[in-house]
Amino acid sequence: MTPPASGLYVHVPFCLRKCAYCDFYSEVPSARPDAERDYAELLGRELASLPELFDPETVYLGGGTPSALSLPVLQALLKSILSRTPHAEEITCEVNPGTLTKEKAKVLRDAGVNRVSLGAQSFDDRTLAFLGRIHRAEEIGDACRMLHHQGIDNLSLDLIYGLPPSISHGPEDDLERLIELAPDHISCYALTYEPGTPLHRDLEDERFRPLDDETCRNQYDAIRARLKAAGYIHYELSNFARPGRECRHNLIYWTGGDYIGVGPAAHSYWQGRRYGYPREWTAWHGRVECGGWNPVAEEELDEMAPAPAELKCQKSRADPGRDAPAELKCQKSRADPGREWVVLGLRLLEGVSLSALRERTGLSLEDLYDGEVERLIGLGMLVLEGDRLRLTEEALFISNAVFSELI
Ligand code: SF4
Repeated sequence: MTPPASGLYVHVPFCLRKCAYCDFYSEVPSARPDAERDYAELLGRELASLPELFDPETVYLGGGTPSALSLPVLQALLKSILSRTPHAEEITCEVNPGTLTKEKAKVLRDAGVNRVSLGAQSFDDRTLAFLGRIHRAEEIGDACRMLHHQGIDNLSLDLIYGLPPSISHGPEDDLERLIELAPDHISCYALTYEPGTPLHRDLEDERFRPLDDETCRNQYDAIRARLKAAGYIHYELSNFARPGRECRHNLIYWTGGDYIGVGPAAHSYWQGRRYGYPREWTAWHGRVECGGWNPVAEEELDEMAPAPAELKCQKSRADPGRDAPAELKCQKSRADPGREWVVLGLRLLEGVSLSALRERTGLSLEDLYDGEVERLIGLGMLVLEGDRLRLTEEALFISNAVFSELI
């Protein structure tokens, strides 16, 4: 897998309704008059002021729910984004099946979107209701057909597993329904209960019992085996793809490439430094009004907001990792750049290239660690093969525990 040089991430901070498990930053647009119009205008200012050198090969519109934007705003937004990214080859838009129409599918295609990430999550209406999703199961297939009809064939579908036993018997039925739709890319995330979300409150109130870790691990292993049998390559902890259909944009994150994020709560890694915006509309608005693309250096942002999801030490939706074995304990919350490189690269099943680490940072494993890597190898969590350090099969499900040792 050869990652592209750089990518643009656009955070669209609106959802028609918050899902019960979600702690991503987004607002319900009706709560703020003229929110969409203000957003599009400010985003235009950000795009116009990006560094001249920045010439991304990938674009990713995420959020939030980009497909929840009204048709004219979506059209205008895509136009301004894609006129700033003339050399982008992979242009992904996240779509909620409950918000897609034939007209929006056509707008995506006409603008140049060539990859869609569809938040399917489950094919069971009861589970979708438990998760607080706005869509019904039958709308997932409808959305795939609308996109295919427009010639957008590179589809990625998200699935959530690890649901409470009172809600689901396991992911098998969902997997079969998903495989029938034959997407090129599949992301599977274990349900996590993030503090502050309605699902977390219901859990605290003992309204349901969560799935035990052993069963959740068995579900993860079953998903891996079924998708492998269906011809998918497991290339990242939570991600599976047909050969050549790995998400090029996300590969930038995992291989230490440059990316610039625009929109509230978006993060950037540009020329060796990390930046971000707070998870808050007014702060983003104020900074962009003052200076276009004007994020806060990460050191300052640490005082204002949590670390970006890809650097979190704790469990996140994007990670199947669960509880740590007793001998693995979180030691650090903020990484130095070399350690960050290692931890992000370990998310890939092929592991992290040590020669690339040396080339990019001038550092070796010996410079970065004081026996931690050897200890994890001894525990059967890591394996060193030639130029690559990778997680063992045993460690995939408890990856966050391993990462907390290495960050
Ligand atoms: S999971 Fe997606 S659609 Fe649901 S609230 Fe979060 S960002 Fe919006």
